[in-house]
Amino acid sequence: MNPFTYIARPARVLFGAGTLQQLPAEVDRLGARKAIVLSTPEQRASAQQVADLLGTRAAGIFDRAVMHVPIETAREARAFAASHGADCAVAIGGGSTVGLGKAIALESALPVIAIPTTYAGSEMTTIYGITEGGMKKTGRADQVLPRTVLYDPELSAGLPVGLSITSGINAIAHAAEGLYSVTTNPIIEIMAQQGMEALGRALPRIKANARDMEARSDALYGAWLCGTVLASVDMALHHKLCHTLGGSFNLPHAETHTIVLPHALAYNAAAAPEAMRKIAQALQGSSAAQAVYDLAHDNGAPVALKDIGMRETDLDQACDIALSNQYPNPRPLERAAIRQLLQDAWEGRRPG
Ligand code: NAD
Repeated sequence: MNPFTYIARPARVLFGAGTLQQLPAEVDRLGARKAIVLSTPEQRASAQQVADLLGTRAAGIFDRAVMHVPIETAREARAFAASHGADCAVAIGGGSTVGLGKAIALESALPVIAIPTTYAGSEMTTIYGITEGGMKKTGRADQVLPRTVLYDPELSAGLPVGLSITSGINAIAHAAEGLYSVTTNPIIEIMAQQGMEALGRALPRIKANARDMEARSDALYGAWLCGTVLASVDMALHHKLCHTLGGSFNLPHAETHTIVLPHALAYNAAAAPEAMRKIAQALQGSSAAQAVYDLAHDNGAPVALKDIGMRETDLDQACDIALSNQYPNPRPLERAAIRQLLQDAWEGRRPG
């Protein structure tokens, strides 16, 4: 076995249907007295449910979380927390809402309790992102890591099927790249494989019945494991491409991951055969790239960048941006091949 470094992050995780009910005790456990509740406008009702549960421990609801955490929203939320005397934040929602919690914690060190309702995995990471002047800046800081995470599958039952599939494949992307990461290790490999297996099993069942609680539970468990992989080891070409496409061309996060992943895996296939074997095995396919493509396609997710708003004329620029910084990847970054990868993803071709 090769030498490795494994870092365990100190989050406390409560998992299971009905776990939300333990929230007031978890606020007390942090020594906090007043929690601001964060959500998107669409999830205002869930935020209200949380505030009702918190009763006198609720300092107020800030329901203006949006994708990519604009700096103006972060400032408003920080001011709202301060003016309402909050000493803790509860973020209920997906990566956008958890991201807003992190933006508050970055400046104020307010502890965050995350209640994830998608499979994006942000709640497990020390990575934050804030968008200013059209540019998303990301960084890492230990203080933004949520102190407590409540994974309650009942709360993801309302996640629309389309977003459930793409968000689940977003999680699979963390695990897939974790397996061939330069910083991977045997513990992370176990989590990556288990996470992909759980999601691979769950997504078709969610497609068949969005309220299948066993499947929702498996998917959320898989998302947790995949989020831990994202938090622990360096990502490669796939995440770089998705960051470029999302940040520079304003493409939706989970859909972009879903479309690009099969092509990023095809690009790296020959350079990382053992990782590909494990991905294919976890997803019960004969090739990693095809197994991911089929998981998306067969469950009604988009498979072509042209169908989610990407213009063909922007592919050259996307390629330039993706190549502008060097970073570790199993196969060296080759311009012509990456340009072809983007073309294949734009057209939605099944990898050969
Ligand atoms: P999201 O948080 O933007 O949510 C998408 C939409 O779905 C929102 O309108 C939300 O309110 C709604 N929604 C979420 N859960 C729901 C539910 N259970 N029922 C009904 N509606 C629900 O989407 P996301 O994909 O979770 O997060 C994407 C963002 O998170 C991106 O900005 C991405 O960069 C960031 N992210 C960050 C990290 C990190 O480690 N920092 C990791 C993953 C994603």
